[in-house]
Amino acid sequence: MKIFNTMTRKKEDFVPIEEGKVRMYVCGPTVYNFFHIGNGRTFIIFDTIRKYLEYRGYEVNFVQNFTDIDDKMIKRANEEDITVKELGDRFIKEYYKDADALELKRATTNPRATEYINEIIKFVKDLIDKGYAYEVDGDVYFDTKKFKEYGKLSGQNLDDLQAGARISVDERKKDPMDFAVWKSQKPGEPAWKSPWGMGRPGWHIECSCMAHKLLGETIDIHGGGMDLIFPHHQNEIAQSEARSGKKFVNYWIHAAYLNIDNKKMSKSLNNFFTAREILEKYDADVIRFFMLSAHYRNQLNFSKELLDSAKVSVERIYNTISNLENLLGEVNNDFMTKDDKEFANILLSYREKYIEKMDDDFNTADAISVIFDLIKDININVNINSSKELVQQCLDLIRELGLPLGILQKSTKISLEERIEKLIDQRQKARKDKNWALADKIRDELNVEGIVLEDTPQGVRWHIKK
Ligand code: AMP
Ligand code: ZN
Repeated sequence: MKIFNTMTRKKEDFVPIEEGKVRMYVCGPTVYNFFHIGNGRTFIIFDTIRKYLEYRGYEVNFVQNFTDIDDKMIKRANEEDITVKELGDRFIKEYYKDADALELKRATTNPRATEYINEIIKFVKDLIDKGYAYEVDGDVYFDTKKFKEYGKLSGQNLDDLQAGARISVDERKKDPMDFAVWKSQKPGEPAWKSPWGMGRPGWHIECSCMAHKLLGETIDIHGGGMDLIFPHHQNEIAQSEARSGKKFVNYWIHAAYLNIDNKKMSKSLNNFFTAREILEKYDADVIRFFMLSAHYRNQLNFSKELLDSAKVSVERIYNTISNLENLLGEVNNDFMTKDDKEFANILLSYREKYIEKMDDDFNTADAISVIFDLIKDININVNINSSKELVQQCLDLIRELGLPLGILQKSTKISLEERIEKLIDQRQKARKDKNWALADKIRDELNVEGIVLEDTPQGVRWHIKK
């Protein structure tokens, strides 16, 4: 399997530290608000990478943090007149609601920065002891000049970075690029006791510390959106490697932006849709299909038209699934004919092709094309004369190839309850519109099926005729 490593700017063979296991860390959301569908793209991409690694037999220890203390958290908590902890609790709950709806598999661990304060203080102490960090008036800064490889992730050296960066000049720092690993308390801010007085951790230190605690000093994969390459991930490398003296991450993976009118979707530009808003109109299959129809290193433009077209594509695949499910009940042929065996072999070649594409730096766009070719071939070659076994194999393969992408797992059959509820809704609407004929027709048809409707002051109830 090959992975494009941001550090080397090359596709490299994936060799995990421990055979059969993957230690993976992905930067998670700051929980001060609902996440937007741009964040959603990054979460879906790393969820897919994780699921594909699992599909290939790896056991993945997947850690994604919650940033639950920073300036944005403090500002929002003040606006709402609640504590930062209450704000974090609330939006972590909301995160899970949307994440579950997007079929994001729960992480092995979702650590919260504020639950690691003691470990973070110890980490900062280690950096000071080793001469990589210094204290000024209760703040602690990382001394970037001391870390010789500073800038290597973004391919720039310290001088280039300084020339390009809009950095605030702070006389107290030894170098303008130095960054805070511990911040002293300002009035009204939550704070914890530390050897440098009351304060709170800087943003970057939480990821270094929690990755170290939960996955070890060297990890296999670290991911996040492209905007995190500099300074966030560069600073994580500096802190982690300065402290341990070891390489921090073997493979850096960065997801490209979801744009809107060719601009990065972001809270600050106010050009975003929350994941929740989009989930009201499209289901997870469609959203994930849309996100994964581009390679993760290519930017993707968000539009209603593209989502609608993803919806049509997903429906086409489900149509084939539904036809195959119906066929299963109709075909009489229990044994594979020669033609069936030949087609079963072709099915295997589709699986190989799919794996080849996904093994090549998780090329989901091409993997989806393979699924489409497979569907076309099935539609042409599988019919009422096929054997049950072949029909079942086709069905299993479509579901199998959808699994790492987090799509195509839904049942095509709606339950009796769902169908009845739908008809009751239609009848209620008809009654509201004073369309009595239609309302009666719906009730009578259900009655023929043995379903009796009862109008009660609490609404419509139904039961099966005894
Ligand atoms: P945040 O909550 O802003 O820290 O972002 C959480 C994750 O979403 C990070 O990995 C960001 O890099 C990523 N992200 C933010 N905006 C976008 C976007 N427009 N497209 C893709 N990923 C994004
Ligand atoms: Zn991080």
